[in-house]
Amino acid sequence: MKKISHSLFAYTVIVDILVILMFLIAIIIMILTKRDNDISNVFFTFFILIGVTTFLFARVVSGKILKPLNEILKGVHQYKEGNYSHKIVLKSKNEYAIVAKALNDLATGIDDEKRLTRQLETSRKQLVMDISHDLKNPLANVLGYSTYLQKDIKRMDESEIHNYLQIIVNNSTRANHLIEDLFDFTKLDANDYELHLEELDFCQFIREVIMEYLPEIEEKHFHYEFIIPEEPLILSFSPKEMKRAISNLFENAIKYNGHNIELKVEVIYTQRMVRLIISDNGIGIPKELQESIFSPFKRVDPSRNSKTGGSGLGLCITKKIIDMHNGCIILQSDVGKGTVFRITLPRDGWR
Ligand code: ADP
Repeated sequence: MKKISHSLFAYTVIVDILVILMFLIAIIIMILTKRDNDISNVFFTFFILIGVTTFLFARVVSGKILKPLNEILKGVHQYKEGNYSHKIVLKSKNEYAIVAKALNDLATGIDDEKRLTRQLETSRKQLVMDISHDLKNPLANVLGYSTYLQKDIKRMDESEIHNYLQIIVNNSTRANHLIEDLFDFTKLDANDYELHLEELDFCQFIREVIMEYLPEIEEKHFHYEFIIPEEPLILSFSPKEMKRAISNLFENAIKYNGHNIELKVEVIYTQRMVRLIISDNGIGIPKELQESIFSPFKRVDPSRNSKTGGSGLGLCITKKIIDMHNGCIILQSDVGKGTVFRITLPRDGWR
């Protein structure tokens, strides 16, 4: 950064030059007016000239120094009051403009920081509201039906009792699911959370995850196709977290789609990356929600989620885990045509 010495140095030099110039002019005036070269006359003329010039010079300099200084001071006062959006505008392009720019940049930085804090605070509040809202319904149901059972169990027949108990079980499961997802979400969000990476065959790993979901896939009569290379594909990843991330995509495909859809799982790779593609031709996700669907509590249809028991945290957790592996997840979907998730992971391991 330039130092603020140039202007002051220039003004000092100008003052020196002016003093010498005035002295010479005073001598020239004496010679031209053919007055006797009395030194006191020279000094008299010199002082008059220097007086007028100093006055004019002071006016120019005050415009060049005091005006920008006042503007800077005004700006600093605004910042003191918390108005960080204020901009110090100077006409001059000298060192004061550098100071003003540095202050403007500082204020913009603080303003951005404050905006970010406000946004974080809003999303934190929203998160707490969403959690309370999502926990309220199942817990209210559990409380309501168990109180009802407690009071009237004697006059109820067996099927009635069974029905109410089933509602209690379903709602407790929902609440439990939400709490588990919340726990994972906050755990992954912590800055000090570390993945336990292992060098494993990614293809074998995917086959094992699929095997777990095969009974459900068959129960819903999905037409499935798995294109997974036979040869081992060694990758550095955390099997526990990766399983959580990918299971979520299988669970969603099963949960949110009807029967008889097509499900395709494919693993492709190059020297530098591995790509897992999970696609279905089910109900799809509306375009306007595709960007925000990875945010917490974002759902296509909240009422549908309460039936399916989804917490709205699944895709958010999946994305977090993929990001932590330095990978990326891309969603492509069309309503009524289906959904494709593409996960790309770097092959050169942890960077
Ligand atoms: P949840 O944990 O509640 O299942 P997710 O974050 O996993 O929530 O998913 C967010 C929303 O995305 C779901 O509410 C669902 O509507 C939609 N969704 C996710 N995957 C699919 C899919 N394969 N087909 C249709 N909709 C899906």
